[in-house]
Amino acid sequence: MLLPRVVVMEHDAIYGTANVLQELKLDGEGLIACGPNTCKFGKKIEDIIADKYAATTLTIRSATIEEVEHVANQATDKSFIIGVGGGKSIDTAKLASVKAKIPFISVPTAASHDGIASSRSSIHCKDKPHSIEAQTPLAVIADTKIIAQAPQRLLIAGCGDIISNYTAVKDWDLARKLKGEEFSEYAATLSQMTTQIIFNYSAQIKPNLEDSVRLVVKALVSSSVAMSIAGSSRPASGSEHKFSHALDQIAPKPALHGEQCAVGTIMMAYLHGGDWQGIRQSLENIGAPVDAKDLGVDDEQIIEALLYAKNIRPERYTILGEGLTRKAAEDLAKATMVIE
Ligand SMILES: [Zn+2]
Repeated sequence: MLLPRVVVMEHDAIYGTANVLQELKLDGEGLIACGPNTCKFGKKIEDIIADKYAATTLTIRSATIEEVEHVANQATDKSFIIGVGGGKSIDTAKLASVKAKIPFISVPTAASHDGIASSRSSIHCKDKPHSIEAQTPLAVIADTKIIAQAPQRLLIAGCGDIISNYTAVKDWDLARKLKGEEFSEYAATLSQMTTQIIFNYSAQIKPNLEDSVRLVVKALVSSSVAMSIAGSSRPASGSEHKFSHALDQIAPKPALHGEQCAVGTIMMAYLHGGDWQGIRQSLENIGAPVDAKDLGVDDEQIIEALLYAKNIRPERYTILGEGLTRKAAEDLAKATMVIE
């Protein structure tokens, strides 16, 4: 199991960055990789650690393989990479750290998906996002003050990514029963618990509140820990993720990963005979999308994504089995009120 060695989550956490680096016995120079909108935080961290660590700040423009190569090349003489940002810069910097064979420190400025603490990166290859195994961050420094300032839509997407654990675990259990797949009770239970916590507190997740941020970041970190225990993304990625990845390929303007996973979870929970209404209600409480309109995609794109979903990671068995017929996909989307 590879787990983050240090997780700091508090108000003004970034001011403790140098202490974390020292605790991890890191020396030498660092590369700070941030996004165009998070550059100010990257520069701030450079200043904060300046007494003890020399570092260069670099702006990541896209989450592409080319950008990963570029960042890795800039890191050849560095001892560690600090990724500062929401999705793209964390994903790109994490994979670049693997290529450069140095540790990765995650400093999320938003809590929109479990990639802030997990070993995986979502990277665009040929214009489409792919989930690639990178490495577990050596440390996660989550500054709740900074994350609380991020757009609420991002935190809501993070909740969607956590709620998707509900169907991911059901799919995993199904694969154990039907395909004899290896299953971890610990990983499954931890993953289910993170979803339950978000369900229980769904009415209390409000904009710009550090308490809400704390709740979601803890759940995202726990979700990543569940994946580390399992040794795969199984506890946090099932049929609902296949649906979201399919929609990424089909919709000209996809919504956020966690938003799409949220809607996918409603539909896959229905197929599993689970509490899809309860999930829908919790998502509504949080202000998350629950249908095609909320996602900004066409009804037809939802159907196409449901039909195509089986082709995403076909080796990962889920409730989608060999795939749905068009009629079954339409019935499913209508019954769950995802389309009209
Ligand atoms: Zn996800």
